[in-house]
Amino acid sequence: MKRYDLVVVGGGFAGVASAISASRQGVSVLLIEKSNCLGGASTNSLVNPFMPTVTHIERERVELNRGIFEEIKNELKKRNAMLWDGFLEEELKLILNRMVLSSGVDILFHAQLTEVKAINDKIFSISLATIGGIEEIEADYFIDATGDAQLSYLSGVPCMQGRRTDGLCQPMTLCFRVGNVDFDKFSKSASKMQEEYKIAKEKSEIKNPRENILYFQLPQKNVVHFNTTRIVKKSPTCVYDLTKAEIEAREQVFEIYEFMKKHAQGLEDSFILSTASQIGVRESRQIIGKYTLTEADCLECRKFEDSVVACNYDIDIHNPEGTGTSHHYFKDGEYYTIPYRCLVPSKIDNLLVAGRCISSTHEAQASYRIMPVVCNLGQVAGVAMAQAIKEKIKPSDIDISKLQAQLKLDNLFIGI
Ligand SMILES: Cc1cc2nc3c(=O)[nH]c(=O)nc-3n(C[C@H](O)[C@H](O)[C@H](O)COP(=O)(O)OP(=O)(O)OC[C@H]3O[C@@H](n4cnc5c(N)ncnc54)[C@H](O)[C@@H]3O)c2cc1C
Repeated sequence: MKRYDLVVVGGGFAGVASAISASRQGVSVLLIEKSNCLGGASTNSLVNPFMPTVTHIERERVELNRGIFEEIKNELKKRNAMLWDGFLEEELKLILNRMVLSSGVDILFHAQLTEVKAINDKIFSISLATIGGIEEIEADYFIDATGDAQLSYLSGVPCMQGRRTDGLCQPMTLCFRVGNVDFDKFSKSASKMQEEYKIAKEKSEIKNPRENILYFQLPQKNVVHFNTTRIVKKSPTCVYDLTKAEIEAREQVFEIYEFMKKHAQGLEDSFILSTASQIGVRESRQIIGKYTLTEADCLECRKFEDSVVACNYDIDIHNPEGTGTSHHYFKDGEYYTIPYRCLVPSKIDNLLVAGRCISSTHEAQASYRIMPVVCNLGQVAGVAMAQAIKEKIKPSDIDISKLQAQLKLDNLFIGI
C-alpha cells in the first residue's frame, strides 16, 4: 500500500493549489483525480473565463487573488493562451501538469474516491476505484478538494446542501462552444437576438428557463463560449438527477443553437464545436466547519482575525427555481475575507477542505466560488497542512499568525 504525508483528493484549482503549496513546503503529496486532467470545472466542464477580483485600496490597484493563481495566469500568458480573462483550457491542462509535477507532487488520474477508513475522527486510508480494481492509499493528512465535499461526506463530516429553506442548489449548466463564427457580426446582432429570445420565452417557444443567452469571447478567433443552459431543481449529488440533467441540458444546447441560427448573424458557417465532458455544478454539498461564512459576513465586508483569503466577487445567484439571476456587486474598495475556520471541518482531525465546498451558506458560496478565489483557498489549505504535518498537530491547532505570515510571503493577499 502506498503511503504519503498528504493526500489531496480532487484536481480542480483548489486541489492543484493545495498540492503545489504543500509540496513546496517539503511534504510528500499525492494528488488524486477521477478524470484525465487537472483543472476541474475549467477543463471537465469548460468553465471560462476567470472572473476578475480587482479592487482599489487607497487608490492603489490590488489584485485580491494572487499567489499560485497568478503563477498559472502568467504561464498562460507566456504561451499566448489568455485573452483578457478568457483562456485556452488545453494549454491550461498542460501547464497544470507541469507545475504540479515540477513541485514534486505525484499525480494519480482515473482514480475515483469511493470509500474512507476513519476511526475515532481520524482518516487512516481511502479506497479508489481504478481500472485495475480498488487501490487503497494511506496518509497522515488529507485535503478534500472534490468540489462536492465527497471525502468529507464519506468520512462522516456533517454537510449541508443548497438553500436553508428548501435545499435547492444553484442551477447546473452544460457549457458549449460554437466554432467558425464571424464574431463581429455575431456581437453586433446580439442585442436583437436577446430581444427575440425574450419574446420566444414569453411565447413558451424556449424551454430553457434562463432569461437571456450568456456568451463570452475566447482567445480562439471565431469560437464563442456559451454558459447559458440551465437545469433547475435537480440535486448534483444524486446520480439519477445528474443523468436527467445531462440529457435535458444537451437538448437545451441544440435548442439555443438552432434559435441563434435563426435570430443572430455571423453563424452561417458555424457548428457546435464541443460540449463539456460533464455538466457544470455551481453548488452541491458544503461541509459544516468550525465557522460558516454567511451572506451577512459578505455584505458587511467582515474582516476576520483568522482571515486567509479576500474576495469581492458579486453575490451571483442563478435562480435555483427557474428564470432570473440576482446580484450584489461590491463597490470599488470593498471586500470581505474568509476565515481559516471555514476550511476546518467540525469533525475529523486530519482533514482540511478547500474550494467551493468549504463551510458557508448558499448565498456566501455564490460569491467566493469563482476560480481565482478557490485557487487561493487551495493554496491556504496546502500551507496550513504542511504546518500541521511538520509540527505533528491537528490542522485546527496550528498557529494562525504563523500561517498568515507564510501566506503573505507566498504573495497572497489575505485581507488584513
Ligand atoms: C457552469 C459554471 C459556470 C461558472 N462560471 C465561472 C466563471 O465564469 N468564472 C469563474 O471564475 N468561475 C466560474 N464558475 C465557478 C468555478 O468554475 C468553480 O466553482 C470552481 O472551478 C470550483 O473549483 P474546485 O477546485 O473547488 O472544484 P472543481 O473544479 O469542481 O474540482 C473538483 C475536482 O475533483 C474531482 N473529483 C470529484 N470527486 C472525486 C472523487 N470522488 N474522486 C476523485 N476525484 C474527484 C473532479 O473530477 C474535479 O476535477 C462556474 C461554475 C460553473 C459550474
